[in-house]
Amino acid sequence: MSKIRVTVWNEYRHEREQDVVAKVYPDGLHAAIAAGLGEHADFDVRTATLDEPDHGLTQDVLDNTDVLTWWGHKAHHEVRDEIVERVADRVYAGMGLIALHSGHHSKIFRKLMGTRCSLRWREADERERIWVVEPGHPIAAGLGPYFEIPEAEMYGEYFDIPAPESLVFVSWFQGGEVFRSGCCYRRGNGKVFYFRPGHETYPIYYMPEVRQVLANAVRWAAPTNGPAYPYLEHAINATETLESLPERDARRERVG
Ligand code: ZN
Repeated sequence: MSKIRVTVWNEYRHEREQDVVAKVYPDGLHAAIAAGLGEHADFDVRTATLDEPDHGLTQDVLDNTDVLTWWGHKAHHEVRDEIVERVADRVYAGMGLIALHSGHHSKIFRKLMGTRCSLRWREADERERIWVVEPGHPIAAGLGPYFEIPEAEMYGEYFDIPAPESLVFVSWFQGGEVFRSGCCYRRGNGKVFYFRPGHETYPIYYMPEVRQVLANAVRWAAPTNGPAYPYLEHAINATETLESLPERDARRERVG
């Protein structure tokens, strides 16, 4: 079986500008995420970052990516619109997209959701308990009923997203909020998963449970061998019918 080709995308600014983040992720968040995925023999993992030409997401890279993971925060606005369109087209054509943590406000996630994707947040080093609320879902494979992150940034409802097609995780926070932490969608032929944890000042992407979720999500979001998505640019005027239809009424005006 051919390997799942994963591109781990990272904004890669906090790590270079703030010592406190560089201490946790000396080679960048993307390196830690890629290392976790790299433990799995069925993945072929590469990384891309904002400041590379085309943000590291050339057409060739995207054409050879089955699943793209996206971590961004302070520079969402620097991601060029044409690259966002390029990524969206690949999702419609079948590429999986996994939006991580503050990727909820990325251009690509907001475009694919069609909503503002805003939420409530707080940085108070509080405990997060992530409950599995769809235990049969492939993204929950290998987990217990819940797992805990000892210190996390809080994200709370209301989270302005469309109702997920599958909701795999719900988070509880020490301060009292709850949050839809693992949300599945389909867009065109592609699958989209949002996974909440991953604030840059905590070592969350080294945690075995988080790495398990990301590996599960990559396998879930990988393209399936379905029919090509036909509606990239225009609606289709289906003048050729599969079976014969009665003659059209010649008196009726056609406006389409
Ligand atoms: Zn954060």
